[in-house]
Amino acid sequence: EGFAALGITGALLKATETAGFDTPKPIQAQAIPAQLEGRDILGVAQTGSGKTAAFSLPILAKIATLGSKRLPRTARALILAPTRELAVQIEDTIKVLAKGMHISTALVLGGVSRHSQVKRMAPGVDILIATPGRLTDLVREGEVKLGETRWLVLDEADRMLDMGFIHDVRRLANATHRERQTALFSATMPSEIEQLARGILKDPVHVEV
Ligand code: AMP
Repeated sequence: EGFAALGITGALLKATETAGFDTPKPIQAQAIPAQLEGRDILGVAQTGSGKTAAFSLPILAKIATLGSKRLPRTARALILAPTRELAVQIEDTIKVLAKGMHISTALVLGGVSRHSQVKRMAPGVDILIATPGRLTDLVREGEVKLGETRWLVLDEADRMLDMGFIHDVRRLANATHRERQTALFSATMPSEIEQLARGILKDPVHVEV
């Protein structure tokens, strides 16, 4: 019953209850067990569907089993979002769900000072939430390294396409670890996104809500 039936346990299960998430939304019921099994996800989902928890809970469950040792400037998981506002919302949700767990997060966004972002990334973090433009700059400058990143999420991929980020997104995805787990969510599936999905997802589970 509830998130427990999807395979969510311990502190994470408690945090979903504290957050008032009693009944999983359809996208969560479909995507969470598949991701816990290690599968990639291709999700057609709108804002408000509950997709943030659908991709965050499995990442948190997996990172919780790892030690605290992190390499400088690396992120274990990378979530790419089209806008600052969405990135901030995703981090807020993750902080709520990670309550009581030792999980570090960082934001790398355009339009604000890069200095604090570089400083935050210096020791390495568990989960980096970023917009593609600024992250591309920091990767190019060597301030962020993606070679150890084994979980990748592209959120609202069609909006990243509309904003001209598709090449940055593809390059960033290709800079992550070869043996990563990837989830791509998009409200629509134009051919450019289908093509991107074919390039970066391995035998994905299709989820549509
Ligand atoms: P999202 O589509 O991820 O932006 O989520 C939309 C809204 O649904 C957010 O305000 C979440 O806090 C909320 N939400 C997500 N999952 C659940 C759930 N299982 N039960 C109740 N509310 C939820």
